[in-house]
Amino acid sequence: MLQELTGKMLLDGAMVAAEAPDVEVRDPATGDVIGKVGAATSSEIERAIAAARAAFPEWAALPGKARGHHLHKLGDAIAADADAMARLMTREQGKPVNEARGEIMKLAEACHFYAEEAARIHGETIPNDSTDHTSIVVREPIGVVGAITPWNYPAELVGWKLCGALAAGCTIVIKPAEITPFTALAIGAKCVEAGIPAGVVNVITGSGSVVGQALVEHWGIDKIAFTGSSAVGLRIQQSATSVKPMSLELGGNCPLIVTKSADINAAVRGAARRSFRNCGQICIAINRIYVACAIYEEFVGKLARAADALTVANGIDDPSADLGAMASFEPLEKTRRHLDDAVGKGARLVAGGAAPDGPGYEKGYFFRPTVLADCTHEMHIMTEETFGPIVGVAAFDTLDHAVAQANDTPYGLASYVYAKVADEIRYLSRRLDYGNVAVNNVDAGIMNAPYGGRKQSGVGYEHGREGMLQYTNLKHIRVRFDQPEG
Ligand code: NAD
Repeated sequence: MLQELTGKMLLDGAMVAAEAPDVEVRDPATGDVIGKVGAATSSEIERAIAAARAAFPEWAALPGKARGHHLHKLGDAIAADADAMARLMTREQGKPVNEARGEIMKLAEACHFYAEEAARIHGETIPNDSTDHTSIVVREPIGVVGAITPWNYPAELVGWKLCGALAAGCTIVIKPAEITPFTALAIGAKCVEAGIPAGVVNVITGSGSVVGQALVEHWGIDKIAFTGSSAVGLRIQQSATSVKPMSLELGGNCPLIVTKSADINAAVRGAARRSFRNCGQICIAINRIYVACAIYEEFVGKLARAADALTVANGIDDPSADLGAMASFEPLEKTRRHLDDAVGKGARLVAGGAAPDGPGYEKGYFFRPTVLADCTHEMHIMTEETFGPIVGVAAFDTLDHAVAQANDTPYGLASYVYAKVADEIRYLSRRLDYGNVAVNNVDAGIMNAPYGGRKQSGVGYEHGREGMLQYTNLKHIRVRFDQPEG
């Protein structure tokens, strides 16, 4: 699969050779170059946008059910090749194969979910002051979407945009992250295989500052759907040269509150999973934990043991490892910096804190799951996004104190609570200033429900019906059916 995709882009319905296929893509577990992709030239960018514009009227005019039929076929094609796509993702991103396969299957699920939703796009009629008039509100597709995506979930974060946009009747130009282009190209190739009409989906590769920025600035892109860091999201919002809607899914620093009434063992399991999965390179990873004083030391001890029990390995050699390699040097370096900062300011290192020892780890970006106790908000780890396998823990005495600490960050993406008392659950879930709150579980985002951030974590929604409606405009048609009036 890797060889077929090397040096390719999806332009106007065909996987074609890139004009300048000299961008190296490396395996983060070994440092080896696994292939090259193109840095899209301005003529390739223009071709992609022109193809998407040309395909738009016919695609938009298809009944929702017919668009859904194409999405079902895409979901089937992806699921049928899930093993190969998962191995490809592991080679460029580092996550273990089983985890990558789970992500590919979630992409297939998104195709089927939006295939069904495509047939359910509807407007409404609104009463007027006069009974002679009728106001009809219809939803129409926005047009051509520019999708710009990060590397931590190379399939799902492309897929939510692709499926929502196509279901709504939009066409799309996708620009994936520089370090994980192959998964997006594989999805593009599946679009061709599934018979999605030429031009409806285009995938161009290259840097954010050139290719991504060109999409943001281009008059032919009607909407930007972006997932990435808050800094780049802000730059994108400020640099558009024409007014266009934008959905921005940005960074996070997500708290977990564990009250005295919580099932402590379930909370520890949840924390270990949501802090360290995908090496913590998740916008909704648990980054900091506030634990009731009465159970603080017990929780810290158990979490440290749970972290120590997790396995770290090359995700190709050990498909079921808990953690693979981190995706690149930058998040590894930031993890080390945040660790040093916290320890320097008095945090207690109770698990991890270094790369694993032994053969096989020398060349890759590996790091052991790390737990820091006695953290304070003077430490970067408690207020900034680390994007690594590290979590800070602090004690709280009252629920008010826990909420104040949890909300003390510029971010508002996801938060977590473990508690058994209904009053605590009600109080905490309403006061946490986050777009998503998961209580007694750590799956803050599911396909059926809207998912979005507040504050510096972004604007707009993915998932659910709202994730598709983001790609529509409302049109108000006010009609007088009987007597025309002048
Ligand atoms: P990033 O912001 O560096 O890059 C994201 C994408 O933007 C890449 O494709 C990049 O090439 C492109 N880009 C960079 N500069 C650009 C510019 N000037 N104009 C247009 N495009 C540009 O983010 P990343 O390091 O790839 O991903 C990690 C970040 O993504 C984290 O902050 C994480 O929290 C966030 N994220 C958020 C969500 C969410 O749902 N809110 C989900 C996953 C990741």
